[in-house]
Amino acid sequence: MARYTGPVCRQCRREGEKLFLKGDRCMTDKCSIVRRSYAPGQHGQGRKKVSEYGLQLREKQKLRRIYGVLERQFENYFDLADSKKGITGENLLQILESRLDNVVYRLGFGASRKEARQLVRHGHFQVNGKKVNIPSFQMRPGDKIQLKEGSLESTRIKELLEEIQDKSVPEWLELDSNSWTGTVKALPLREQIDLPVQEHLIVELYSR
Ligand code: SF4
Repeated sequence: MARYTGPVCRQCRREGEKLFLKGDRCMTDKCSIVRRSYAPGQHGQGRKKVSEYGLQLREKQKLRRIYGVLERQFENYFDLADSKKGITGENLLQILESRLDNVVYRLGFGASRKEARQLVRHGHFQVNGKKVNIPSFQMRPGDKIQLKEGSLESTRIKELLEEIQDKSVPEWLELDSNSWTGTVKALPLREQIDLPVQEHLIVELYSR
């Protein structure tokens, strides 16, 4: 299945809330949710009543869009989460949050997850001393991610590093801005994942 290549903001409008898919623009008045806070399409302003199934489906789509994950991959993540000990919904969030592209984004090396994914694909990072260019790579506690020395020459990366100074890093990560190395201290707990998602609805959807 092809990756979604349509207008990014349309996805937020479909979910009816900001999913922060575009980086800095999401914080400005140019955000489409600020300007047109109704669903896209001919009937966008008319849709009101949503069934229980509809609510569950929207929650799943929202989470999938936030992390930019395709349907099949998302199902695989759910199966993995379900097979682990603990609460399935929380396991699912933990797996998604541990993706390399997300860790890069959370450390501030990308203005959005999309940009972080692109930086990973372009080989700007090493994990535990080895080049890794797979955005879905799962990070584990103790793993270290480092910006490649040659990447410091990139104009965009220089801009991002300047902006990093003003950003905070989640508790489960640590950033050393002298060597531009991030460390995964632990897997994130649910309360450390600041997403407006009701993951239990997704579990209910897949339990149908
Ligand atoms: Fe979503 Fe950002 Fe577009 Fe606003 S600007 S609609 S938050 S992607």
